[in-house]
Amino acid sequence: MPPDGKLQWPDGARVAIALTFDVDGEAPLLGESGDATHRPAAISEWRYGLGAGIRRIRRFLADRGLPATCYVPGWVADHYPDQIRALRDDGHEIGHHGYLHKNPEQVDANAQRAEIEQGLEALERLDIRPRGYRAPYLGLTEVTAGLLHEHEFEYDSSCMGADDPYYEQIDGRSLLEIPVHWSLDDGAYLAWLGEGGSNLPGIAAWVATWRAEIDAAIGEGGLVTFMMHPHWTGRRHQMAALSEVIKHAQERPDVRFTTHGEVAHIARAQLDDA
Ligand SMILES: [Zn+2]
Repeated sequence: MPPDGKLQWPDGARVAIALTFDVDGEAPLLGESGDATHRPAAISEWRYGLGAGIRRIRRFLADRGLPATCYVPGWVADHYPDQIRALRDDGHEIGHHGYLHKNPEQVDANAQRAEIEQGLEALERLDIRPRGYRAPYLGLTEVTAGLLHEHEFEYDSSCMGADDPYYEQIDGRSLLEIPVHWSLDDGAYLAWLGEGGSNLPGIAAWVATWRAEIDAAIGEGGLVTFMMHPHWTGRRHQMAALSEVIKHAQERPDVRFTTHGEVAHIARAQLDDA
């Protein structure tokens, strides 16, 4: 670990940027209590992510040679296996994101175990062994953190305690954390809240905020994790806006695009060596 406490990235990069996509599909609606199947219009908004959304994102990443980390609920792996295999075959990392996208904070210990174990089984049916986990709704609990330890996950990406990777102490154990923040979640700008419209700041604020985050990170050195959802970012003009953010990063020297798996590997080696 260097004296300034900043991780050293390969190729002398000053900043690493991780593009992450939570490929939720309609799992969040189906995982809610009550029967969502009678809400086809609501479900269709989320299903868009596994259709046009994911196709557009795959093409965007391939055109620019960018890696991504895709967090996938097991239900989505079971119902959209071709799309998830295609992401894997494109070279993107696949992480665990529950089974029916149930918020760990809102279900009991047995349900949390089912979410982790059924999610693992679903990804295993596609020959995917995830190294990392992101809690649905970022609702990580002590119980779920214990399950990550039991199932030998290498890292979590749900907490907000630092800018750069660190060890989160939970229930007497250290969990390697690749942190996130709500301001780096596309939903903070793009989610449509239905009747009455949205009070969200919108696309211009999205682009400006993420460009400012890149500039600030370059000033300090470190890691930036952007958190996106194919049913929001994957729509037409939203992708055009994302391309502005990416172009801004690619024009700056010393920026490296990376996956969370690579970040975990680098962070563990350097943090453990400190
Ligand atoms: Zn999600």
